[in-house]
Amino acid sequence: MKKSSNFILLIIFLLFFQMQGKGQSAECVTDYIHNNLMQTDSAYRKQLLILESQVDASIQNQANSILKSLIYTIPVVVNVIHLGEPIGTGSNISDIQIQQAIIGLNDRFRNVNGLGVDVEFDFCLASRDPNGNSTNGINRVNGSIVPNYPANGITPTGNMCSGAVETAIKDLSRWPVSDYYNIWVVSEICNGGFVGYASYPVGGLYDGLVIVSTSMTSTSGTFPHEVGHGFFLYHTFNGDGGNVSCPIDTNCLINGDHVCDTPPHKQGDCGITNPCPSDSVWDNSRYNYMAYCPLVNRFTQGQKDRIRATAIVAPRASLLTSLGCVAVGINEISSNNIFSIFPNPAQSVINVRSDIKLLGSAYVVYDNTGKTILKGKITSENTIIEVGNLSGGIYWFSVGENLKQTFKVIKE
Ligand SMILES: [Zn+2]
Repeated sequence: MKKSSNFILLIIFLLFFQMQGKGQSAECVTDYIHNNLMQTDSAYRKQLLILESQVDASIQNQANSILKSLIYTIPVVVNVIHLGEPIGTGSNISDIQIQQAIIGLNDRFRNVNGLGVDVEFDFCLASRDPNGNSTNGINRVNGSIVPNYPANGITPTGNMCSGAVETAIKDLSRWPVSDYYNIWVVSEICNGGFVGYASYPVGGLYDGLVIVSTSMTSTSGTFPHEVGHGFFLYHTFNGDGGNVSCPIDTNCLINGDHVCDTPPHKQGDCGITNPCPSDSVWDNSRYNYMAYCPLVNRFTQGQKDRIRATAIVAPRASLLTSLGCVAVGINEISSNNIFSIFPNPAQSVINVRSDIKLLGSAYVVYDNTGKTILKGKITSENTIIEVGNLSGGIYWFSVGENLKQTFKVIKE
């Protein structure tokens, strides 16, 4: 009896641990690249400082933003740069593994475990490619022809390790950063030295996230960590001088990780108490996806504000209007003399004002996947459609002959 209850406890513990997500098994190299660029690339430095001030302003404005409760949909393309293995083996990980990794990422951003906050982000594998054709959002390329890739994997720009040149690997497959968040799954980074890194959001052709194939999983702590960097989160221990001293904390919005509810700490401090002085909740940092601690399970409200503020300014803002996750077949018309739809964004109803000649014609409301959510008929020159029960997000309203006229409707 005792033995079996211990066994059950062990299973519960293991499940709990798995749901939490393991922390970084090795350091991410984002900061190394970032610090190098800040010192050597004046254009990067300038761009980053501009972005920082825009994000600060955006955080202040966000409290009044009509979009504050909207779920942001981020189209993702996963570029698997493998070593020639069959699909589903080695670095050429399966479609299912990638799809489950995206589900795991969304579970973390949506706070499914209930330990942090819901960032209200939905990452979706692209369903429409840059040419408007159907896709599963996964590109596979054999990278073994690139010098040094088979032996050592990729070398992040600015790093001295002996892998393949980063741009040569990314040039094998990348989609426009204005419409897709690019993820490159690689065999190794610096011969196993690192597990992932991401560009802070300064744009450019090679903007995106690099992750080793073994960390592209549904339980990965590395994946949400790197996406956090991609949406301008710093490490919770930012400013510790490499685990040397407590980060400065004079003004929590501009010191450390620029987030006020994640207490500053040293990278290696993950214990029951935080040796660095702070008023905010210690668990918010030591269990944070942006820490290097062994167990990570949350983003905080302050991080959510920063992520969402980043999402609504360039270069990430264009992802929010991308058609990358809108099923092929839904084709938007931006303006039209025959119809007007208001209010948009809508809360409880949308009004459709239409030409009297179209009385009796059918309308359909789709979600981003092309699934029919509502349908009906135009019954007057001002048809009212109830949308109060729909969850927040983007919908598509099609009407007219053969439902050819389609408008984007935002539900708050
Ligand atoms: Zn990191």
